[in-house]
Amino acid sequence: MQSFPYRDGELYCENVPMAKLAEQYGTPLWVYSKSFILGQLKQIQTAFAEVDPVICYSVKANSTLGILRVIRDAGCGFDVVSGGELYRVKAAGGDTSKVVFAGVGKTDEEIRFALENDILMFDVESEQELDAIAAVADSMGKVARVVLRLNPDIDAKTHAKTTTGKKGNKFGMDIERFRELAAKVLRDKRLALKGIHMHLGSPILTTGPYAAAGQKAIEVVEALRLDGHDINWINLGGGFGISYRGNEGLPASAYAEVIVPAVQQAKCRLALEPGRFVVGNSCVLVSKVVYTKREGGKLFVIQDAAMNDLIRPAMYDSFHRVWPVRPATPMPENVEGEIVGCEKTDLVGPVCESSDYFAKDRYLPKMQRGDLVATFSAGAYGTAMSSNYNSRPRATEVLVDGSTVTVIRRRETYADLVAHELS
Ligand SMILES: *Cc1c(COP(=O)(O)O)cnc(C)c1O
Repeated sequence: MQSFPYRDGELYCENVPMAKLAEQYGTPLWVYSKSFILGQLKQIQTAFAEVDPVICYSVKANSTLGILRVIRDAGCGFDVVSGGELYRVKAAGGDTSKVVFAGVGKTDEEIRFALENDILMFDVESEQELDAIAAVADSMGKVARVVLRLNPDIDAKTHAKTTTGKKGNKFGMDIERFRELAAKVLRDKRLALKGIHMHLGSPILTTGPYAAAGQKAIEVVEALRLDGHDINWINLGGGFGISYRGNEGLPASAYAEVIVPAVQQAKCRLALEPGRFVVGNSCVLVSKVVYTKREGGKLFVIQDAAMNDLIRPAMYDSFHRVWPVRPATPMPENVEGEIVGCEKTDLVGPVCESSDYFAKDRYLPKMQRGDLVATFSAGAYGTAMSSNYNSRPRATEVLVDGSTVTVIRRRETYADLVAHELS
């Protein structure tokens, strides 16, 4: 994590000490490294260069405008799953001709909004959705470009709440229905079938599921071409894993190695929808220790960041590296298991829920009131899932570029919390 190095015993983001940011902007504080995001995008662009992919960053991973602008400036498109996300892409100056629209429950209003903005294509998930898109397109005198989302029945071995490409979950359709709907599109002048979409789940830390999906895609594309379809897109979704614990994440080139040959064999264009891979390790959430206490034989460190800020541990049992900003013991490579000089600790927040924790039974250096704590890998599904639960204002987000710091979202005030309430 070169973007977040410890130098002389304290944590930095690029050239800026975290402690200085915390002092200036308060805590909790989301600190992003711009160069990290650009580096990840470059890595994907380079790894897949042979097939010149359209990279549609998955907005749901992190939808803050300041982050979307960095990604837009790198030449990327966007994957949206709601009208609100499309609005954000536009507000960030994104190119809507490079937008794909996924999700199982697109409303007529959202479909209309997308067609008005001439998005690249819809990832269609059911027959009724296909009918709705055709009807809306007809009312606007437009032709809608669609790809059908195949549920390839591949077990990507992710958490039960994040698997999407396995038979029995709500996403996509099986191959029989896929061919039926493809035939239906062929008869409909208001629709143009462009290809196939698959998103297998997230995070995926092996290449096997993508290799299997690539083979499926080749078969489906060949079959559809025999049926008379002019198919030229394979969209393999997102899901590339990252390192939360150590170095378990694969480079983009590993995924490219199995995906590129399949795309070449199918003679198609490739779309990708990476989210976590782009932003996951671009952000550290900095918090301050409010109290420590020993109770029931356990040491609790209570910080000012909570599950309303970062819900992943509560929601998915996710593992995040946590370590003090100015630690008494340097952060080791492996933060799991017993660590000399550290004590088993629960790092928790102030929200009134037992699931409000960031780390449980973790060996951590001694911390006291006022100390700063870093929670790593907080860039994906962090702020995007944050809420005002317990009437806690959402925290400030800053983007660091070398030595330059930009506030991209200010801290909410108490007045913001009630601003939408009318009586
Ligand atoms: C969530 C999602 C993604 C992004 O997944 P990551 O794991 O963040 O890369 C891509 N495509 C679709 C359809 C999604 O629902």
